[in-house]
Amino acid sequence: SSIPKIVILGAGYGGIMTAQRLQKELNYNEADVTLVNRHEYHYFTTHLHMPAAGTDAEENAYVPISKLVDEFKIDLVKSNVKQILPQEKKVILEDGTLSYDYLVISLGGEPETFGIPGMMENAMMIRSINSVRKIREHIESQFVAYKTDKKPERLSFVVGGAGFTGIEFVAELADRVAELCRKHGIDRSAVKIYNVEAAPTALPGFDPELVEYAMKVLQNKGVTFKIGVAIKECQPDGVVVGDDLEKIPANTVVWTGGIRGNRVVEEAGFETMRGRVKIDEYLHVPGYEDIFMIGDSALMFNPEGRPYPPTAQISMQQGPVVAQNILAAIRGQQPKKFTFSNKGTVASLGKGEAVGIVGDRKLKGWVAAQLKKVIDIRWLFIIGGVSLALKKGKFL
Ligand code: FAD
Ligand code: NAD
Repeated sequence: SSIPKIVILGAGYGGIMTAQRLQKELNYNEADVTLVNRHEYHYFTTHLHMPAAGTDAEENAYVPISKLVDEFKIDLVKSNVKQILPQEKKVILEDGTLSYDYLVISLGGEPETFGIPGMMENAMMIRSINSVRKIREHIESQFVAYKTDKKPERLSFVVGGAGFTGIEFVAELADRVAELCRKHGIDRSAVKIYNVEAAPTALPGFDPELVEYAMKVLQNKGVTFKIGVAIKECQPDGVVVGDDLEKIPANTVVWTGGIRGNRVVEEAGFETMRGRVKIDEYLHVPGYEDIFMIGDSALMFNPEGRPYPPTAQISMQQGPVVAQNILAAIRGQQPKKFTFSNKGTVASLGKGEAVGIVGDRKLKGWVAAQLKKVIDIRWLFIIGGVSLALKKGKFL
């Protein structure tokens, strides 16, 4: 048929927003839309530090995609994207091929290990429902096994990287460890939790006063920071850190050292920097009027020339603009430029604690923790309305 085909790859923050906006704006028979995702559910990446530690149920971190989009208007395809062929306007899936007239790449990023020996093989990473289930089960199994073999490395936990992901996870881990110690009758002082950060400060680039506050909260929960200390190697039984190659024995290493663009994007032949494509202000891949890219695999610079950090916040703002620009292309109208509107940053520090900056206001403690809940519930409300917000939102 002559109806344009729109294919969206990835149903994360950017992909869901694109699909929902297209569904709302497209006229009958104006275009065919297909949404491809490797799981049949959308997960809230921004929530994953909790089910990873076991402080919240994993069910609260995902929702079936069929609950978010109208399957009469959008074809849902559960599959793995293997390859993008931009010259042929085709996408190769693990079990088929799709052709497109307009392509939206919103596949998210991947963990960056910087080639650190053993990291890929031996560390666990917070990236999907399946990966966080592994982390939670592994943590629990260490406590169980410790009761019989009393090996101290079972109660030694290393979180590699003190960016926002590392800080949010280590806070939940500390809360969870306290719970597991009570449950298994283990003395809390037998447990070691390390957060190792290569940069001269935790949360590099964030407000120093709030960084200090965050570190105090976490130290009070029993976290030991090693700041200005790089992880050099990850082994099955611990990590090697710093210039003096100190070994920290640990049966559990969770790597939160950063993310890079998706391999599929890199392998498509676009020009990339650490797997990311520098997109234009209309969110096109340069040189391709028919390909849009958003989210963690896209690189965009602010007016001062610094890259925007990859966040859910920017992805969910980019989605509707991509939808709008595809509609404009189909309708022969002018595309719209994307401008980022910074709503602030709030990081949770476990139960009842958080830090954040909103506008020029610094927030900490209970107020920041409440705001963090509002932000999470807002996403549920945007994609699934009141019913999803009530079903999956954390109000207490
Ligand atoms: P994603 O949300 O990662 O979605 C990508 C989708 O594509 C996924 O559904 C995935 O399964 C699918 N996919 C990937 N590869 C393939 C393939 N080959 N085939 C088929 N499907 C595929 N950002 C904030 O703004 N605020 C926060 O508070 C915040 N907290 C965070 C907390 C944690 C613990 C983490 C890890 C991140 C946090 N972030 C936060 C960052 C934020 O989660 C990401 O920037 C955001 O998820 C990126 O959205 P995206 O649309 O690019 O991709
Ligand atoms: P990141 O890149 O922001 O942080 C990774 C940290 O690991 C850095 O501080 C880095 O110095 C450190 N590191 C790198 N190599 C190391 C090594 N060898 N040894 C020790 N430390 C090392 O990655 P992230 O924390 O996963 O965040 C990714 C993106 O998601 C960011 O844009 C962040 O803003 C966003 N995010 C936001 C929130 C929030 O707003 N609440 C929460 C999580 C993530």
